[in-house]
Amino acid sequence: MTANLLDFDLEGLAAFCEELGEKRFRATQLYRWIHQRGVRDFDAMSDLAKSLRQKLPDVAYIASLPVLSRQNASDGTIKWLFDVGSGDAVEAVYIPESDRGTLCISSQAGCAVGCRFCSTGHQGFSRNLTTAEIIGQLWFVEHTLRAERNTTDRVVTNVVMMGMGEPLQNYNALVPALRTMLHDNAYGLSRRRVTVSTSGVVPMVDRLGLDCPVALAVSLHAPNDALRSDLVPLNRKYPLAELLAACARYLPHAPRDFLTFEYCMLKGVNDQPSHARELITLVTSFNGGQGLHCKFNLIPFNPFPDSGLTCSDKATVQAFADLLSQAGIVTTVRKTRGDDIDAACGQLAGEVLDRTNAATRMATLRQGTGTVHTIQVTAASAHNVL
Ligand code: SAH
Ligand code: SF4
Repeated sequence: MTANLLDFDLEGLAAFCEELGEKRFRATQLYRWIHQRGVRDFDAMSDLAKSLRQKLPDVAYIASLPVLSRQNASDGTIKWLFDVGSGDAVEAVYIPESDRGTLCISSQAGCAVGCRFCSTGHQGFSRNLTTAEIIGQLWFVEHTLRAERNTTDRVVTNVVMMGMGEPLQNYNALVPALRTMLHDNAYGLSRRRVTVSTSGVVPMVDRLGLDCPVALAVSLHAPNDALRSDLVPLNRKYPLAELLAACARYLPHAPRDFLTFEYCMLKGVNDQPSHARELITLVTSFNGGQGLHCKFNLIPFNPFPDSGLTCSDKATVQAFADLLSQAGIVTTVRKTRGDDIDAACGQLAGEVLDRTNAATRMATLRQGTGTVHTIQVTAASAHNVL
């Protein structure tokens, strides 16, 4: 059995080195070569003992997911579709802005939560990604873009777990990947620049607070249990009161003194002034009137076929934002990228996940790499989240 070294955080790599009869500090050297420099050829790792360099090719390798397609939008946004086998694909999206470069990463092929407004949710769950497949998206994008730009400077400054899947339903694979994002001998991102977005897996919110407290974004989408259970079925298991209590427990661990609520604006469903007022009461009356320190990120709904839902119009979104702001809640409306970008949650990957004629479509995708003028970006475009 050979091991993919992307599967290990530093602790795991140290244990692996020990199994090989090597000193633990060799792991730090390896970790740096892999993550800081993007090197996968053991022979090129010049400060490793020669004996270890000779041993490694028999027991280990470094590989991210195969790329099915890449799309470049004219504003610099890039989306990759990765093959995860069995006709499934996941996507990662790089979103450059003047002061940062955000990478949106997937955690699962499909998703079991099944939110009504999410195309990934409509396709169901295929499988969890491994740690190597999660961190491999960052490893691949960071080092591919550095090489293309002929720079050793950091390209990805922020990571958001907002691609396909519910990260907290793949907790054991997620945490080592997060640790590698944060580690100074790997990507060295600060905790506030790594965001986990969740539909509200309450026990795992608590565990994340203890194990690896990065920035947290909670997908709220509704101000009461009846509506939220309809939109986010997981709410039946972990209703709002429990979710908000978990958020309050997370706050002392969080890298900032607030957390972000995401709210997808659905015409006539959750976008009325009455919903805004209910939302204000929900967060301000929390904990006997103490309130919950949070900010809201309103996401215009990205339509997809058969959802039966439409996006709220601009004026409605603005009126909703104004009501929250007037109540003292910091609220942003997520921008979509330039006009050539139709922001949508996982639509391209979604097509692949629809197994009808999957093989034909995968073949088409394999040929389809190149510059395009329209790009479907995951909902996770993640502007204003941080
Ligand atoms: N499963 C996690 C993270 C991935 S989804 C979660 O639900 O938080 C990332 C964000 O995109 C979530 O806030 C989700 O609610 C939102 N989203 C999903 N489908 C969308 C759509 N069609 N339009 C707008 N936002 C969407
Ligand atoms: Fe899963 Fe998030 Fe989509 Fe809901 S919104 S189905 S939790 S990926």
